Amino acid sequence: NISISGLTKRFGTNTVLNDISLSLTPGERVAIIGPSGTGKSTLLRCLNYLDRPDKGLITLGDLSVDAERASRADILALRRRTGFVFQNYALFANKTARQNIMEGLTVVRDWSKDKARARADEILARIGLADRGDSYPSALSGGQQQRVGIGRAMALDADLMLLDEPTSALDPEWVGEVLDLIRRIADGRQTMLIVTHEMQFAREIADRIVFMDGGRIVEQGPPEQIFGNAQDERTRAFLRRVG
Ligand code: ATP
Ligand code: MG
Repeated sequence: NISISGLTKRFGTNTVLNDISLSLTPGERVAIIGPSGTGKSTLLRCLNYLDRPDKGLITLGDLSVDAERASRADILALRRRTGFVFQNYALFANKTARQNIMEGLTVVRDWSKDKARARADEILARIGLADRGDSYPSALSGGQQQRVGIGRAMALDADLMLLDEPTSALDPEWVGEVLDLIRRIADGRQTMLIVTHEMQFAREIADRIVFMDGGRIVEQGPPEQIFGNAQDERTRAFLRRVG
C-alpha cells in the first residue's frame, strides 16, 4: 500500500500543501483535479522529492520516508520506486529516444547498458516507436516526445507512476495518442496519480477523483460521485467552470 500522511510544503510564507493525507491501494488509479495554483504539481513533486516537503510521511510498501529526517538514501529509494511524467516531457535533448529511456535504468537503477538497452527497446515497441529509437527529441512530434517521456517512466516498472498534466503542453492533434497510451497503462492496473484537466478522461480511467483547492484535499470519491453529486460547493463551482 501507498500512503501519504500530513504532507506540508511551504514556499517562504506561502503554505502550498497543507496537511495532505492520501492512500492508494495497489493498482488504484487516482486523478487529481482542481484550480490553478492549488498545489497539484507541488504534491506530485513532493512525492518523489523533486520538491522537498517540510513535513509528512510517505510510505511505499516497506519504505517509509519522513520529511523531517529523510536521508539521501531514502530519497534515492523513493525515486527508484516512482516514475514521473512531466507536462513538458523533460527529455534530454542530446540523447536519443532510446537513451532517454535507458537513462533512469542505468543511473537510478544501476543496470548495465546492455540490460537497459534491451528494456528500452521493449518499451519503444510498447509505445509504438520501435523504429524511432535513434531519433533525438527535436526530430519527434510533441506526441512522440511525450510517449518517450511516458516510456521512460514505464521502463522503471514503478510502484507508483506520477503524471503531471501529461497532455496540456501538446498541440491538440497529439493529445489523443498520448491519452491512448496512458489509458493502456491504466488498463494494466499500474498504480497512478495523475493530475489532469481532461475531465472526461479522468472520469473514464480513474477509480477515484481527488479535488484539491488551496493546498488541501477538499473532497474525494468515485468519478460518478464527484462529477455527478459533489458535496462541496467549491468542487461544484470548479466543475461548472471547467465542464
Ligand atoms: P496549475 O494547475 O496551474 O499547474 P498547480 O495546482 O499545479 O497549478 P503548483 O504549481 O503546485 O499549482 O503551485 C502551487 C503554489 O505554489 C502556487 O502559488 C505557486 O506559485 C507556488 N510555487 C510552486 N513552485 C514554487 C517555487 N519553486 N517557488 C515558489 N513558489 C512556488
Ligand atoms: Mg501544475
